[in-house]
Amino acid sequence: MEPSDMGDSVRERHANAQEWATEVSSFNAWVGGSHVETDDSIETRDPVTNESIVEVPLFDSDTVDDTVAEAWDAYDEEWSNTNPADRSEMLFDWIDVLTDHIEELSLLESLDTGKPIGDARGEVLGAIDTLEYYASLARTQSGKQVPARNDVHTYTRSEPYGVVGQITPWNFPMWAAAWKLGPALAAGNTSVLKPSATTPLTTVRMAELSAGVIPDGVINVVTGTGSVTGGAVTEHEDIRKVSFTGSTGVGKGIMEAAAGHFAPVTLELGGKSPFLVFPDADLDKVVDAVASGIFYSTGEICDAFSRALVHEDIVDEFTERFVEKAESYQLGDPLLEETTMGPLTSKEQFETVTSYIDIGSSEGANLLTGGGTPDADEISGGWYVEPTVYGDVDNEMRIAQEEIFGPVQTIQTFNSYEEAIELANDTRYGLAAGVGTESTDIAHNAAADLEAGLIYVNEYGPILPDAPYGGFKDSGIGRDLGEEALDHYQQTKSVYVNLGDPDL
Ligand code: NAD
Repeated sequence: MEPSDMGDSVRERHANAQEWATEVSSFNAWVGGSHVETDDSIETRDPVTNESIVEVPLFDSDTVDDTVAEAWDAYDEEWSNTNPADRSEMLFDWIDVLTDHIEELSLLESLDTGKPIGDARGEVLGAIDTLEYYASLARTQSGKQVPARNDVHTYTRSEPYGVVGQITPWNFPMWAAAWKLGPALAAGNTSVLKPSATTPLTTVRMAELSAGVIPDGVINVVTGTGSVTGGAVTEHEDIRKVSFTGSTGVGKGIMEAAAGHFAPVTLELGGKSPFLVFPDADLDKVVDAVASGIFYSTGEICDAFSRALVHEDIVDEFTERFVEKAESYQLGDPLLEETTMGPLTSKEQFETVTSYIDIGSSEGANLLTGGGTPDADEISGGWYVEPTVYGDVDNEMRIAQEEIFGPVQTIQTFNSYEEAIELANDTRYGLAAGVGTESTDIAHNAAADLEAGLIYVNEYGPILPDAPYGGFKDSGIGRDLGEEALDHYQQTKSVYVNLGDPDL
């Protein structure tokens, strides 16, 4: 069913979409190729209406234990016997099934997260593209021969860890699951994946859609809360590697838990990313880039360009155009194609973002637009916040230093290249940074001087599966995507073979 056919009012459309979702799947956890229920459950809510969509199981340490055992069985009995070509073919078969369900998955993603349906569709396509990249990459790996001595034939093998634990956040659920599953499976591991309790639907559904094409027990999705279910995964002694995407605070605890059993970690954490606008910038391009960077996904995106650092000669023009752009976003029902900004994904996130708006005002920043909730009756029950812009911001303010994870932009000024870089790097985070300039000298120097894992020049995005993604400093350890992620899911073995003289 098309979302636009689901009813004339927001309430009617969402009531129908929620009913439709319960017919698509039970959304129970997916373990060993079947749905599994538990005694306790948690609900996932529609952020537009705050009504429950479905309840999903709450896995505890016993049910996680059973799941890890299933994943090891699948690894020992089947997945470890496959060749890269076998895994590539099975991943492509799964991709075919997912491709047949693009509209369904997009609708589920929009319903669960509040993302505009067009953005949700883009992320489902991004997830499929990521899986395609790793299905292809699986077959391109080669080993290394080490020519150290003529009498010892020495070479390396890259081998999977076995069972890996993967934990994803609520802000781009299916895409994040593909970032984790693609390289882990291509490298030959089986997975126990825990999606966020807030948005588990598409992750469970994509696992369910692997039935019959990926062997049972290779992909396992355990649902539940972070502390109970996530903790049971990261602390489990038979989980040989942990990959986590989420907040910096939780990431620290994950690293400590994984250290208890020496599991290596990949951590994709929070950010407070600056965009530097130099005096020669083409503002037609750059205003759009900075606005997409903070307002895409209602600002609930780890690499959000939440700090605009603008040269003082052009700050007035930039600010005027940026505020106009912020006010042009159309807040509304995410199920309608014309909506460009949906609600925040949960009540908790709404409370966090609105509390930061109070903090910004009390810190003395100048509220230039937004700061409230839209007054349209149709969406009054949802977790909407207006695109918000603060001027006169000081780098010491909390709104300039802490990750808000909402549609809140701060504008600061600089008057030299050195000051711009110093301000940009004056944060504990280092995920992304943007540069607006027409000068190749400025662009490449800034790309080298900025402490961040991702640099965008005159644009926001794209995120390509081919390029590594991750942060410096408190924004993480290791990389998702690219060949680097495949390496993270493998360990190296050196083999020495004695070569005696041919005895003929
Ligand atoms: P979060 O840290 O609260 O939760 C992330 C995941 O960890 C969820 O599945 C959660 O249930 C689980 N979790 C929570 N506590 C846990 C524990 N003690 N043990 C094990 N698992 C636990 O993050 P969130 O609120 O879901 O997501 C938003 C955060 O994620 C932001 O900080 C954002 O910047 C970050 N993020 C980073 C990237 C990146 O690639 N760097 C991408 C997306 C989101």
